Amino acid sequence: MQDAHKNQHTTPARTPRGARSEASGTAAPVSRAVSGRRPPRAARRIPDTPADADIAGISITSARRVIDASSGLRKIDVIRYYARASRWLLPHLRERPVSLVRAPRGLEGELFFQRHSARAPIPELTQHEGLDPGHPPLLTIDSLEALVGAAQMDTIELHTWNACVTDIERPDRVVFDLDPDPALGWDCMIEAADMTRALLQTLGLESFCKTSGGKGLHIVVPLAPETGWEDVKAFARAVAQHLAADVPTRITATMGPEHRRKKIFVDYLRNARGASTVVAYGVRARPGMGVSVPIAWDELAQTSGGAQWTLHNIDERLATLDRADPWAAYLDVKQQVTAELTIGLEESDR
Ligand code: ATP
Ligand code: MN
Repeated sequence: MQDAHKNQHTTPARTPRGARSEASGTAAPVSRAVSGRRPPRAARRIPDTPADADIAGISITSARRVIDASSGLRKIDVIRYYARASRWLLPHLRERPVSLVRAPRGLEGELFFQRHSARAPIPELTQHEGLDPGHPPLLTIDSLEALVGAAQMDTIELHTWNACVTDIERPDRVVFDLDPDPALGWDCMIEAADMTRALLQTLGLESFCKTSGGKGLHIVVPLAPETGWEDVKAFARAVAQHLAADVPTRITATMGPEHRRKKIFVDYLRNARGASTVVAYGVRARPGMGVSVPIAWDELAQTSGGAQWTLHNIDERLATLDRADPWAAYLDVKQQVTAELTIGLEESDR
């Protein structure tokens, strides 16, 4: 995996910053890391750790390497966060094909988006042969060891499919990705999310909201895995197009910045087979290192942005989850989308 960049199945992520040809930093000895440099003030709030540590039985190398120069966050900060948050993350990771965004040279180096097992696999990850025909095995993270193992191999972002390996042709959730025109205020995002939730409610569907850790929000509709990819995607498209028809001044279902001017883009294309979305409680490989955080619908009005929570303040949020997990009901919701629902939406738009 150290030369994952040479593997045809490990492609540079969409927005590499300062692309480099070499990316084999995963096994760099600590002496080559920037461990001698004192991190900026903010990073010092995170308790220090020996340069090399053992977490969940995985030996961590280059622990003090700074990943995000803008905040001073180090590799060990990412790994320790994932270990601390594993209880909340793992239910959303287990048995779900995962794509990794790896940053072997930090956020300023090239990022690698990896959908399949590479020639030198990360040992703790589970491989699933044959689910993505013509490609190497898909991967799942099913344990704390796998989560820490992925982070040790420089994984920052974890993106999951909308289906589990146990029932790969039947998605068990729909995701709406709400992306704002950067010129719009956050209040428009809150409004669009509330409208999406309200429409879903009229269809008898419960939905759950999370910050993206970046610019927007994700709305997730858990499903019993009963309907195939095409029908679920058609449903998602009908919902997005219905919203856009309802409030054309505020919402668009059409991709591209020219359609999004002064609007929120409700992206339903996250619902195709093989598409993925950053996992709940997942870290983002962007300066500041936002975290995608589940929120309760009645908290939405008080939110301030998609990157409201970052690796620097996420512990405050984790500390509240035992008494108030906003997604406590998520795993128990049993609902489905039907062709009738989709047809009903489409007909009401005519
Ligand atoms: P934001 O709130 O800033 O929009 P986001 O998570 O909604 O954040 P992106 O980070 O732009 O959106 O990611 C879009 C999706 O595209 C991700 O969920 C991921 O699954 C996918 N993706 C990202 N990079 C690549 C890539 N290089 N190749 C294929 N798919 C990618
Ligand atoms: Mn988005």
